[in-house]
Amino acid sequence: MEALIDEVAEVLVKSRYAIALTGAGVSTESGIPDFRGPSGIWTKDPEAERRAYEAYALFLRDPKAFWEDYLSRPSILGPLEKAQPNPSHYALAELEEMGILKCIITQNVDGLHEKAGSENVIEFHGNAFKIRCVDCGARYPKSDFDLVSMKERGQLPPLCRRCGGVLKPDVVYFTEPIPRDVIARSLEEVRKCDVMLVCGTSLVVYPAAELPRLAKRKVPPATVIEVNLEPTSATFDGTSDYFLQGKTGEILPKIVEAVKKKLAK
Ligand code: NAD
Ligand code: ZN
Repeated sequence: MEALIDEVAEVLVKSRYAIALTGAGVSTESGIPDFRGPSGIWTKDPEAERRAYEAYALFLRDPKAFWEDYLSRPSILGPLEKAQPNPSHYALAELEEMGILKCIITQNVDGLHEKAGSENVIEFHGNAFKIRCVDCGARYPKSDFDLVSMKERGQLPPLCRRCGGVLKPDVVYFTEPIPRDVIARSLEEVRKCDVMLVCGTSLVVYPAAELPRLAKRKVPPATVIEVNLEPTSATFDGTSDYFLQGKTGEILPKIVEAVKKKLAK
């Protein structure tokens, strides 16, 4: 592992434009469960997965009923406001601070990369603390709306203050398209990158899982470095040039240390 960490650090130091793609695995060490890891939410509760698949159809069919149902359940990810970044988030923030990492595309909705100090973060699947207009794409802090009293007064669904469109949680649901601004920014980052650091994602949710493949198909191909507890399809199909098996909270800080040593030389 030490030799592999050293090699990966060398790749990062020599990179021109490194970016990261992160998934729920970087936040499990902050106490937020993932979906498909060994103690994941779907792994333990397939019924919750079925409900999640139906949420977007319900929103489209009946936004009022969707919001009433939404407000009647606790978040499946638990109390996200209390979660704090862990060494994985801080390591990536430090790589950005050093000028090596240019952008993080995260599938997480917990806001922990920003909390750890990362600045250029694309939230591919939205943010759990925001709501978004399905017509004009405007985003608002959820706390701007008193959703509970709106429910009591029969005023759901909340409406956009800019265009009057219906608001939905910013989090992207299964079968919902990725918002256009987010896809455009992400593709631009992939176009620019020569290294992609893929951390804590099972790479089964599309189109996010397509991003490392797009990076790999470029001419010349980007170097893909994968850090995960377990191998994924990218490990097996040759998308990943490097696979570092273990916890991101342990491996990413080691990579940062190795990078620092090289820069000090
Ligand atoms: P996933 O649950 O499908 O996969 C997580 C992967 O991370 C698994 O392969 C698991 O083995 C690995 N992992 C778990 N803990 C790890 C650790 N400490 N170090 C290294 N690897 C670890 O997650 P996904 O690929 O991100 O896709 C699930 C979707 O669910 C995401 O798109 C996201 O929108 C959403 N989600 C978000 C959060 C969050 O915001 N924190 C949490 C759960 C799910
Ligand atoms: Zn709007």
